[in-house]
Amino acid sequence: MKAEGIVPTVGSKFDSLTGLYNREAFYREAMLLLGARFDVDYYIVCMDISCFKIINDLFHVDTGNLILRAAADYFKIKFNPRTTISCRAEADHFILCVPRDELDIEQVIKELDARIQSLHISHNILFFAGIYPIEKRDLPIDQMCDRAGMALRRIKGSYLTRYAYYDAKMREQMIEEQLIAGNMEAALLENQFTIYLQPIFDPRKNIVTSAEALVRWFHPVHGMVSPGKFIPVFERNGFIVRLDRFVWEEACRLQRKRLDEGKSVVPISVNLSRLNFYSLDLPEFLAGLLDKYQLEPWMLKLEVTESAYTDNQLQLLDMISTFKDLGFSILMDDFGSGYSSLNMLKDMPLDTLKVDMAFIRELEKSHRVAIILKFIVELAEELGMGVVVEGVETKVQCDYVASLGEVAIQGYYFSRPLPIEDYEKLLDKYSS
Ligand code: C2E
Ligand code: CA
Ligand code: CA
Repeated sequence: MKAEGIVPTVGSKFDSLTGLYNREAFYREAMLLLGARFDVDYYIVCMDISCFKIINDLFHVDTGNLILRAAADYFKIKFNPRTTISCRAEADHFILCVPRDELDIEQVIKELDARIQSLHISHNILFFAGIYPIEKRDLPIDQMCDRAGMALRRIKGSYLTRYAYYDAKMREQMIEEQLIAGNMEAALLENQFTIYLQPIFDPRKNIVTSAEALVRWFHPVHGMVSPGKFIPVFERNGFIVRLDRFVWEEACRLQRKRLDEGKSVVPISVNLSRLNFYSLDLPEFLAGLLDKYQLEPWMLKLEVTESAYTDNQLQLLDMISTFKDLGFSILMDDFGSGYSSLNMLKDMPLDTLKVDMAFIRELEKSHRVAIILKFIVELAEELGMGVVVEGVETKVQCDYVASLGEVAIQGYYFSRPLPIEDYEKLLDKYSS
């Protein structure tokens, strides 16, 4: 995607928007520099912005251009032009060829963040960097840049990690990622995706109170592919939006089937990956599902994680209020795992906290964790919210959680995620 108003002049060395080199000129100049400065160790650094496309969609293209110029101006001031070459390769991609001892990447990211923040754009704009430490100078420059790009793609959207160095393993991962992305469309068409249900259990009343729909991929050749492998790939390439919708529909289909059979249903909660919040037809789509399967809103709950909130608070708040108006319950997934859990709790009308698995895992090792869990349950109670503790694997953990109050558990101790048929059997056994 190109920012508007940037038509590279034929034969020009420079990008007309930012005044930095364009990609072709960068390749030439970097090769000359590397050839001349054999005694100096260099990095190739690829940088880009989180969700730049979205910024251009949400705001005027001038805003996108303003950000790009601010970044370029920073590079011009920050780096010595005699030792460092920088370019805007396209859209929001910047590449630098910089001596290793002149780059403090943490500081660069911090300073870039500060510059962008000073533009007062109401969206969290973050820079990410992939770094290739040049070892063999005979590697073509475009491949050096590809390697820095690989390192960048690995962390893009991760929020906690803002830069990464290339290593040889990344090439293998890249190939695997391409394989996953190359197979995803066919997998959806050929019904290779399916849902599993993990029951959520009330340990005091001994009943299943709800379940979470979790996607599974059975590839005809590679067998079962773990969500841990394919979800991050789909979050990067956008396919998660379609896959999530498929999962929601499967959950609705199951609810309808049980109702038609005269069986009891409990709410099924589904995951809403943060990319969904950029689809403005999301509430309409969910309402459409209820309508199509003739369900009541309480039969489907929506799990939202904190990273969605980090992205764009106003839009998320708006969307969540619409969901509430439609009658849906909202769960905050992985509560306590990120930086803004309490902020999200403060601002959003949420119904249930799902306490991140990391807490329960340390319960037996740390008294402090026990106190924090107790506090979270009290906090939720005071706010009139429900609590689910995820990842409960042992009796000790279950008993402790049950002792805290009205808390539901989700974890291997009660049940792993189950194929639909097994879930139904279990639900029939543990219904209220
Ligand atoms: P999540 O939403 O936090 O889901 C809970 C994960 O914890 C599931 O992993 C579940 O199998 C696992 N789990 C449950 N109980 C235990 C336990 O006692 N011990 C341990 N060690 N693990 C437990 P799963 O199915 O591999 O999914 C991983 C993540 O992938 C999910 O984390 C969610 O973020 C994502 N995911 C899964 N299905 C979907 C989907 O349909 N849409 C989206 N957007 N993301 C999904
Ligand atoms: Ca979840
Ligand atoms: Ca979770």
